[in-house]
Amino acid sequence: MSNEETIVIVGAGPAGGQAALTLREEGYQGRVILVGAEPYLPYERPPLSKATLTDPEHAGIPLLPGVTKFNELNIEFRKSTYAIAIDVESQSIKLNDGTEQKYNKLLLTTGARLRRLEIDGSDLQHVYYLRDFDDSQNIKARLQPGKKLVVIGGGFIGLETAASARKLGCDVTVIEAGPQLMGRVVPSVIANFFTELHQKHGINIITGVMPEKITGEGQVSGVQLADGRFIEADVILVGIGVLANVELAEQAGLAINNGIVVNEYTQTSVVNIYAAGDVTCHFNPLLKKSYRHESWQNAINQASIAAINMAGESKAHAEVPWVWTDQLEVNMQMAGVVHDSDDLVIRGSIENADFTVFQMYKQQVVGVITINRGKEMTIAKRLVGSGKIVDPKLLQDDSNKLRKIIKG
Ligand code: NAP
Repeated sequence: MSNEETIVIVGAGPAGGQAALTLREEGYQGRVILVGAEPYLPYERPPLSKATLTDPEHAGIPLLPGVTKFNELNIEFRKSTYAIAIDVESQSIKLNDGTEQKYNKLLLTTGARLRRLEIDGSDLQHVYYLRDFDDSQNIKARLQPGKKLVVIGGGFIGLETAASARKLGCDVTVIEAGPQLMGRVVPSVIANFFTELHQKHGINIITGVMPEKITGEGQVSGVQLADGRFIEADVILVGIGVLANVELAEQAGLAINNGIVVNEYTQTSVVNIYAAGDVTCHFNPLLKKSYRHESWQNAINQASIAAINMAGESKAHAEVPWVWTDQLEVNMQMAGVVHDSDDLVIRGSIENADFTVFQMYKQQVVGVITINRGKEMTIAKRLVGSGKIVDPKLLQDDSNKLRKIIKG
C-alpha cells in the first residue's frame, strides 16, 4: 500500500480507537485519521457506571490501552470534530470545522446515543443520563450518602448505577416499565435473582409501571408513577436504552436496518466503506443471523477485524456474542442468547449466588449465563455455537466438569 493512501475513521469511541491501533499493529503504512466528537482520547465505557463512580483509584478517564501512543504511531486524532456528510462518489467526508477529507477507505464507528425520556419534568435540573465520561462526572457529583436516587430503566446502565449508588450510601429506587429487570436480555430466573439481590441490599425495585411525570420546581423532587405512587428523588438517572447513530450513513445511501448493515467482513453496502461497533447490524456466520449488538466485546473485536480487512486481508467476524455486568457482589456473564423457555438447564446453587444457566435448543447449547462463575464461562462459551449434542442431565449435575462434557 502506498504512503499516499488514507483511512478515515469516524467516531472515536472504543471501536474507533481500537481500529486505529489495529491498523498500525497490522503494519498499515498509509495515513490514519480518527475523527471524534468528544474532547478526549478514546476511552472504555464499562467502568463509567461502576469503578469510575465508586472507586477513588479509578476516578480518572479510563483511556483505551494504547491510545496515548497515537502521536508515536502517527495516528492523526481530530478531537471535538464530527463528520457532517459523506460523498461516496468523490470518496470524501465533510467535517463540522468546514474542511473536507478524502479517503481511500472509510470506517464508520459512530456508535449509539441515549434514548431520551419524554415526560413532563424530564428537563428539570438533576435528571441525568449516563453514556460518556462527562455524564459519569456529573452524576457522580450528586451521589452523596443519604441522597435519594431514582433510576428510570432497569437495564444494565440503570442497575449498575443503582448498585454503585447504594455502595456510596444513597437511598435508591429503580423503576422498570417492563414486567422484569433486564427484560429484553435475560430469562426470568436471572431477572428474579437480580431483583432479590438488589432488594437484599436495600434497593427498592418497582417493575411493570411507567413513570408518568417528574416533579419539582427548578430541580427534581420526585417521580409520579402511572399507578398513583409517588417516589421522592434528589437525583434521577435515566437509562432507557440507546439508538444507533445511523444518520450520516443513511444520508450517504448506505443500507440501514436498525443499524448500518455490514457483512461478516465489516463491509457496508457501499464500496470502501466499512462499519463496526454498536452502530452495525451485522451478519454473524456462527448464529446465521443479522442483528445489532451493543457490547464492549463487539466494539473492540469487530473494529479490529474491520482494520485488518481495510489493511488488505480478508477476515470474517464470527464470534459468540458475550456481555458481562457487575452489580453489588455479583458478576454475571452471558454468551449467546438465553430467553424464557422450557429448555433452560440450571447447575449450581441460585441460593448461594453460584450457578450457570444453559439455554438448550435441539439438544445443543445456544446460550449460557454464569453467576459468579466466570471460570466456567470460558469453557461454556465453546459449547455455544459448537453444534455439539449435549445431554442436559450431564450439564445439570455440578459434579460433571464442563471440560469433560465438551470433550465427551
Ligand atoms: P437497555 O439495556 O435497553 O435497558 C433499558 C431498560 O429501560 C429496558 O428494560 C427498557 O424496557 C426500560 N425502559 C424503557 N423505557 C422506559 C421508561 N419510560 N420507564 C422505565 N423503564 C423504561 O439500556 P440501558 O440500560 O440504558 O443501557 C444502554 C446501553 O448500554 C445498552 O446498549 C446496554 O447494553 C449498554 N450497557 C451495557 C453494559 C454491560 O454490558 N454491562 C453496561 C451498561 C450499559 P423495554 O425493553 O421494554 O424498552
